[in-house]
Amino acid sequence: MSRYWNTGISYSQPAVEDLRKKAAASVQAAAKKGQKFEPVLPHKGKGQICESWWGQAWCANLERYADYASRLERGRRYFRSGTVVDLKIRPGRVEARVQGSRKTPYKVDIRISPLSEEKCQAIIERCGRKIKTIDKLINGEFPEELQDLFTAEGGLFPSPAEISFICSCPDWALMCKHVAAAMYGIGVRFDENPFFFFHLRGIDIDRFIDVTLENKVESMLQNADVDTDRILHETDLTGLFGVL
Ligand SMILES: [Zn+2]
Repeated sequence: MSRYWNTGISYSQPAVEDLRKKAAASVQAAAKKGQKFEPVLPHKGKGQICESWWGQAWCANLERYADYASRLERGRRYFRSGTVVDLKIRPGRVEARVQGSRKTPYKVDIRISPLSEEKCQAIIERCGRKIKTIDKLINGEFPEELQDLFTAEGGLFPSPAEISFICSCPDWALMCKHVAAAMYGIGVRFDENPFFFFHLRGIDIDRFIDVTLENKVESMLQNADVDTDRILHETDLTGLFGVL
């Protein structure tokens, strides 16, 4: 009996090299049809899947979901095999294509419940006060002291109850390895640009710029010499932030 069981498991695990070849062929085939796939490439080496603290925090958050433990392990292997051939992050939704054993990649659709306006506002306020310049943030320097902004209850990382997903594969499991691989793909996308977190939860980056500016101006005015009649013009602000 166990022999058959083992055979079944090995049969359901396509070789890494085979997955890689199929993934490359799928990206090429999509390009020929005029579709732009955006693959998520794993970092070289056998270290952590994500490099930044916030990417690693995303993975750690996923791995807290004990119900998915075995699937996440397969998802990691799938992700490292370069199977996430397309992944697009939109507000409240991630659409991905993950290469499996058959020729055409499976379609993965992940939905994340939107944050309430109240929570969005609270996150923006907190970030705005901590982030010194928006360009620093865009360059991927996210202050680690804001870690709980992601992981706290009601933070940017969704709880299991806030996530739903579907995959076009025939796997009966609640979370198949394709969904799990896409989840790691999201972490690597975040690694590249932490603003995807905000985008995914439906928070517009322009709102950060507004709040950061307001706070900066406020503190500049507070620090200004007493009785000064200095007026901050728009050009001062442009110089201050560099990116506006
Ligand atoms: Zn699947």
